[in-house]
Amino acid sequence: MNRRSSRRLRRVVFALALILLLVIVALALPSLIGDERGTVEPGELTRIAFFDVGQGLSVGIITADGRSLLFDMGDRENAVDTVILPFFRRYGVQQLDYVVASHPDQDHIGELATVLTRFPAGTYIDPAIENTNRAYLRGLRVVEEKGIPARRARRGDTFELGERTRVEVLWPRQPFITNSDGEVDDNNNSVVLRVIDGDVRILLTGDIEKEAEEELLALDPSALRADLLQVAHHGSRSSSTTPFLDAVGARDAVISVGADNSYGHPHRETMQRLREAGITVYRTDIDGTVVFVSDGTQIQPERQEGTP
Ligand SMILES: [Zn+2]
Repeated sequence: MNRRSSRRLRRVVFALALILLLVIVALALPSLIGDERGTVEPGELTRIAFFDVGQGLSVGIITADGRSLLFDMGDRENAVDTVILPFFRRYGVQQLDYVVASHPDQDHIGELATVLTRFPAGTYIDPAIENTNRAYLRGLRVVEEKGIPARRARRGDTFELGERTRVEVLWPRQPFITNSDGEVDDNNNSVVLRVIDGDVRILLTGDIEKEAEEELLALDPSALRADLLQVAHHGSRSSSTTPFLDAVGARDAVISVGADNSYGHPHRETMQRLREAGITVYRTDIDGTVVFVSDGTQIQPERQEGTP
């Protein structure tokens, strides 16, 4: 072998070695990146807060890796400043990754503009049913003024909320449910979310009533399975049918409701059905803000500081 051909051989060997190295790196890269992104250690907690906003609804979620979602915000400005935003600030949340309006009723979106004005938001999610509620329209104006990316909730959408947590949009879907006047019904077209945190599932139902429950059951009852349930429509008798509760199969449920409200929520029949389903019920009018913690394997009420 002369010198020139041995040099060529060395070059070929070097090139082959380089290719082999690149292949090894390419194969190893996904797991390396995966390891680096694995910021959620087993046992780290995702928090789900059912805020005491009086007669209304507001649920906040902070995942184990600090991502956040606000599902409705009630209609008490005072509660935004003393209950909702302090919860997020306490855990170092700088931005609400998702702000979701379940439906344009005052007790759910009354303070939409307030929240979006006082705290940065990543994405706004809207059911986009026709409505002229002034607080809702004011909220939409803030979304536009601040250039907050907005999208409509539709059954089948999913989005990631951090490493361990995923959100499924189960409702609404078109054609929207209409009421007896043929108009699109607010409550029955509420956004319904199922939050999946590891093995733990949480179902947020807004104000859906039995018509939406029936459709959801007909579409896929297994998609409703959850460990923790937000009882629909503040415990109204027109929601939380037994077949729906059976499909959900929750161990715990929270009713967001104001003390001595004029609707008589939660209705006695609903309380009875929840009891018969063997569900432990928490109420914001009695328990105040109720916080659950999930470690991705199980979920339980957070122990208050100072209690055993
Ligand atoms: Zn409501």
